[in-house]
Amino acid sequence: MTIQDIFEAGVVGAGGAGFPTHVKLSGKADTLLINAAECEPLLHKDKEVLREYLDAVIEGMALGMGLTGAERAVVGVKDKYRDVIELLRAKLPSNMEVAELRDAYPAGDEFILVYDVLNRAIPPGGIPLHVGAVVMNVETAVNVAAAKIRPVTEKFLSVAGAVAEPATLRVPLGVTMAECVAAAGGPTVPDANYIVGGVMMGYLEDDRDALVDKTTGGIIVLPDDHVIVRRRRQDWKQIGRIGRAACDQCSFCTELCPRWLLGHPIEPHRAMRSLGFNRIGEANVIGTQFCCECNLCSLYSCPEDLDPKNVCTQNKRRLAAEKRRCENPPFNPRRPELHLANRKAPMARLMTKLGLRQFRNVGPLQATLLPAAKVGIKLKQHLGAPCEATVAVGQSVAKGQVVGRPPMADGKPALGAPVHASIDGVVTAIADGAVWIGK
Ligand code: SF4
Ligand code: SF4
Repeated sequence: MTIQDIFEAGVVGAGGAGFPTHVKLSGKADTLLINAAECEPLLHKDKEVLREYLDAVIEGMALGMGLTGAERAVVGVKDKYRDVIELLRAKLPSNMEVAELRDAYPAGDEFILVYDVLNRAIPPGGIPLHVGAVVMNVETAVNVAAAKIRPVTEKFLSVAGAVAEPATLRVPLGVTMAECVAAAGGPTVPDANYIVGGVMMGYLEDDRDALVDKTTGGIIVLPDDHVIVRRRRQDWKQIGRIGRAACDQCSFCTELCPRWLLGHPIEPHRAMRSLGFNRIGEANVIGTQFCCECNLCSLYSCPEDLDPKNVCTQNKRRLAAEKRRCENPPFNPRRPELHLANRKAPMARLMTKLGLRQFRNVGPLQATLLPAAKVGIKLKQHLGAPCEATVAVGQSVAKGQVVGRPPMADGKPALGAPVHASIDGVVTAIADGAVWIGK
């Protein structure tokens, strides 16, 4: 297996970020971490994939170790999944091991995972490679193992919340979210809203026909009056006005912020304070560029139910637009040692706070591929440049055939990965950022 094979197969991070895997595995590290922490409430796909496709995960880990030079690999998984942990312990070779993680949020954030498993704090603005680690999602490892045989044409995702049969599905890329929800028994509420990716870090998708891509890890269905939906529908003016009037600067948001606890210079209470200034983005909130948008401050920490996360992201976007960056950010690597372990949000408490205890917290795998007569293959399913279509309307395509490639820049492909047909059929349109294929 080569880096080129992984590129050609279109493998990108399946955990949500979509970072091209061939780039990630081009780095050198002493440890490969497999991220099965899956700390978003109600999501189950990583644990289900681990249980069902463990041999492929192990093969992907071995390949990842070979490419990065890592001598050790560790699978990070929640300690509550005893059956999966026993399976792993029985099958993993001597250079691979399991790290049991507390059932708390956040756990799957790369920075937190690297600290919890390796006791290494990544500096602000850094990446796991800076501390000798490469992190790969479970499903990504399966795709790496298969890269020589087949490209990425399928996705695993959990469908949960207000649906009749919560499940983890195996679907062709490019099916609609409505088809996935129907496959999970359909909504149990008339006013179904789709939260894509998870209730903490995901987004509200109003288009039921939005397409599943390589980064879609889950769809949570919730009614209009659910707190998560109401919070997502608040507009920025309302958030700013209420925040300015009601924030009492208690600083709980900062004291529980996972990135502040890692020693990074992000202090959401200062961003909240800046709402009272004439212009946000003043010097003392430049640290907002280190916010990972985990939403813990807004959905868990703040006793007033304010929205420091959105205030931080507004600041962050303004700073980025103005090309202002915090050079040489201060870093306190002693802070995680002092505080991180005992300040995470226990999952049971988080579920209660988010009003999710009423939903069944299960996601059994439906391993049979969901049938599809029509798909839309998005040309951008990864971090980097959108692909350019390599097929024409009316052309017959076979499952696995390349239908889009990253554009060339300076004689080599721009950051990205090719995309492939997920069914046999005919190209019916190239529109709205996708190649549409029908049978
Ligand atoms: S926790 Fe809430 S009230 Fe306290 S400082 Fe943060 S935003 Fe303000
Ligand atoms: S969303 Fe809030 S808690 Fe999370 S990193 Fe940003 S400021 Fe910290």
